[in-house]
Order: sequence, then structure tokens, then C-alpha cells
Amino acid sequence: MSRNKRLFERAKQVLPGGNTRTTLFVPPAAPYAARGDGAYIIDEDGHQVIDCNNNYTALIHGHRFVPSLEAAYHAMEHGTAFGLPTGFEIELGEMLAKRLPHLDQWRFCNSGTEAVMQAIRIARAATGRDMILRFEGSYHGTSDAVVDSNAPGLPKAIEQSVVTAPVGDFRRTQELFKEFGGQVAGVLIDLMPNRAGLRPSDPTFVRDLQEMTHSAGALLIVDEVITFRSEYGGLQSRYDLQSDLTTLGKVIGGGFPAGAVGGTAEVMSVTDPHLPNSLAWGGTFSANPVTMAAGRAALAAFDRKAISRLNNMGDRIRERLRAAGFECSGSGSLIRLFPDDLTEFWWAAYNKGVLLGTNALVALSTVMSDTDVELIGSRLIEVWNESHHG
Ligand code: PMP
Repeated sequence: MSRNKRLFERAKQVLPGGNTRTTLFVPPAAPYAARGDGAYIIDEDGHQVIDCNNNYTALIHGHRFVPSLEAAYHAMEHGTAFGLPTGFEIELGEMLAKRLPHLDQWRFCNSGTEAVMQAIRIARAATGRDMILRFEGSYHGTSDAVVDSNAPGLPKAIEQSVVTAPVGDFRRTQELFKEFGGQVAGVLIDLMPNRAGLRPSDPTFVRDLQEMTHSAGALLIVDEVITFRSEYGGLQSRYDLQSDLTTLGKVIGGGFPAGAVGGTAEVMSVTDPHLPNSLAWGGTFSANPVTMAAGRAALAAFDRKAISRLNNMGDRIRERLRAAGFECSGSGSLIRLFPDDLTEFWWAAYNKGVLLGTNALVALSTVMSDTDVELIGSRLIEVWNESHHG
């Protein structure tokens, strides 16, 4: 029996279905990663793949990015977590405030899920309203307010405080504002929702949405957990958007668990513990120095030049795939493909040496060379042709 299979057999004894992250499930079972290096991963059976998953877009510089590792080690040498703040959180906060200048206050947590959960709480606290308006099929993590309305284990009562509109549907959004406008605390949007097809939002829709949100006295929450890698100031900077709250995660941790909420000083003041009855934001490992230091090093290396090169790599792959006749969406370093059978396509790509997201998401990293970019294009085209004509 192969090592991957043996590990899965053991996993089933202690993990339901042998699984810990549903997002990594690919039937019958995903192979186990043994080691990552730069743009490549080797699994437990010794199979090497070019990593186009990058831990679901988080590893912007690929695996074992030396500046992040060194920063993390350096931080670790002084202690990994304290019951006191450290200077590292200020440095990462300053960096984010510089990139998103309209959001001058930040708070850290350990995942995108937490960031979205807290942003919603902040919007509710700041407006004194309950309702959240969000878009169907956009993934925002696993907290109650943002999972599918038919998700098991969800309290029925959630329906009273969350309404959804189809992605990009101006008319439905307008209707919801008419009906619930005065009750809406926040509108949650991902400007290029991966699960909903990774299509950039229409600028007119986004402009109208911002206007409707603000004239209803609600706050605009932009979820940039994935899209932050698109531009120096996140994807919202391309839309010239003034979000009131923004959620981040993934890339800002330099390979370690991270999440953050940024907001305007006025909105974020609801979390200021000097003020009476402020919103409590704890988290034993929130803003831990290891994550903060690694994240700072990752972002320092992810400057405008690096972003532009990375986005250009994505454009080249998309162009090549389209020229070869297959549909793909996305922008910059994020690409989605639409095969008929996702599982079959995922395995075919894996066996050819390309690790994708289970929904056929491609997320590039800065450590990829031009040869890697060529290779990704050729291998995907081969897989596509074999699965459609083979
Ligand atoms: N928001 C978006 C847009 C995401 O894509 C994700 C995760 N893929 C999350 C939130 C949740 O982040 P995490 O997995 O770190 O909890």
C-alpha cells in the first residue's frame, strides 16, 4: 500500500472521513503533502507537483519563503506568544494602513473566518442594526451569518438577520434595500468571489452598491481575504472603493495563520477598550509575534513591482488557455477553470504534476519562474485535451 493510502487509513480512525478541512476533500482522499519548496510540493509517495493551490491562495511567495522564515525564527527566539502585546502588531498594522489609506485602524485574528465574523459584529455594533446583506454563493468562511442558508447545524433564526442577493444583481439588491434598508448594518461583498466563479464584479454595480449602502446608513464590508493579492491596495483600489470595513487573511500571515479587520477610525472605535461597553475582541493567539513578523516580511516583498509581475504571469496563462479554446475566469494571479468533472480534472492535473484547488482554482506565487508559467499552461492544456477528447 502506498504511503498516501496508509496515512488515509490511519486518518480515518481519528478524523471523520479521514478529513480535517472540508475544502481539501477530493474523493476518494487527497494525497498527503510531505514537503514544499518554492513553487513545488512533494507528496508522501514522492510525486512532485507545481503548486497552483498555494494553500488556497495564501502562500503568495510559495513554500518556505526565506524572508518570512527568518522573520518568524527571529520572532520565535524571543518567545512565540505572550499575554502582552508586542511591537510586531504595530508594524503590520502600519503596513496595512499604508496600503489601504482610507482604513486607518486594524485588528488581528487568526483566520479569514474570524475576520469576517468580527467585521459583521463591528458593523452591527457601529450601526445598532442587525441585518447583513450578502451575495449568494460567495464564500466568506464558516461563521453562521455567511454559510449557505441550508447548511446543517445553522439556527433557523439566522434568516431574520441575513438576506442574500444573487451575485451582481442590481435589481434584487435594490429591492432588498427598499424592503430592509433601515435595518441593514452591513453589506458584505467579495469583489471577485472564487466560489461564485471568480469573475470580477462589474464596476457600475459596485459603485451603485456603495451608494445604496451608504445612503441606507449601512456599512460596506469588503472581503479581501483572497483578493488582497490582486493589487497593492487590494482589489478595491481598482474600483476606487471606500470600504468602511475590510477583511484580510491568507497572504498577510506569511504562511502562518492570520486574519485582520481594517476600518475607518470611527467605525473601529467600537472595539476601543477605553470606551464603555466596547466590543470585546480577544483571541489567545491574535496578533502573535510569529505570524506578525512572517506576514510583515511577506508583504514587504510583495511590492507593486512583484504584484505587477505576478499579475502578468496570470494574464499570460489565461491568454494561452483561452487561445487553446477553454473557458477560464479570474484576474491577475488567480484563475478559475470550468471542467465538466471537477474531481476527474483535479486528479488528472495532479497526476500530470499540477496541484489545483478542488474547484479548479489556480493561484500563482511570486517564486514561479517563466519556465514554471510555461509548464503550468502546457500541462493544463494537455489535461484539458485529454479529458475532453481523450
Ligand atoms: N473570505 C474569503 C473570500 C475566503 O476565500 C475565505 C477562505 N477561503 C475566507 C473568508 C475564510 O478564511 P479562512 O479559511 O482563513 O477562515
